[in-house]
Amino acid sequence: MIAGHFGLAAAVKAARPAIPLWMLMLATAWLDVVFIPLYLIGVEKIDGAGGYGEGVIHADYTHSLVGAVVLAALFGAVAAWRLDRQAGFVLGGVVFSHWLLDLVVHRADLPVLPGNAGDLPVFGFGLWRSPGVSAVVEVLLLVVGIGLYWREAAKHDPKRACTLGLTSALFGAVTITADLLGI
Ligand SMILES: [Zn+2]
Repeated sequence: MIAGHFGLAAAVKAARPAIPLWMLMLATAWLDVVFIPLYLIGVEKIDGAGGYGEGVIHADYTHSLVGAVVLAALFGAVAAWRLDRQAGFVLGGVVFSHWLLDLVVHRADLPVLPGNAGDLPVFGFGLWRSPGVSAVVEVLLLVVGIGLYWREAAKHDPKRACTLGLTSALFGAVTITADLLGI
């Protein structure tokens, strides 16, 4: 899931226009951003990747419940320091929303504790088992998010809103393509 996360970021941008869009986009993808270096050094893995929603993801640190809370708190703290307290809470919440959305689509591969310590039950409702349905959910998130963002921007500057809306729609199309290719 890439498109769905960005759809949510766009919706939050509509509600909190003062927060820079790039920060919201970074926040929504933060768990996956931290996943990349851990993947490269072999600490976190994906099994059976190659198509949309086909991977079983062993992101036992970044995508553990406690890991996600810690990463959200860190991101929120930096945002509160750079922007303000409220923006810190919003951005921390956006980071954690990644885990909640992943919980819906992932097969049971999200642990509670980092490194799946204690071998507790792992979570994931597995919507990816129905790729058609989960793709529709992601596209809906994206369309609604961009739509809200577009509408909010149009209140202030309709021309700029058009450029912003089309740019984010194009970006959304790229994220959906990346999703469908199983990136
Ligand atoms: Zn993720």
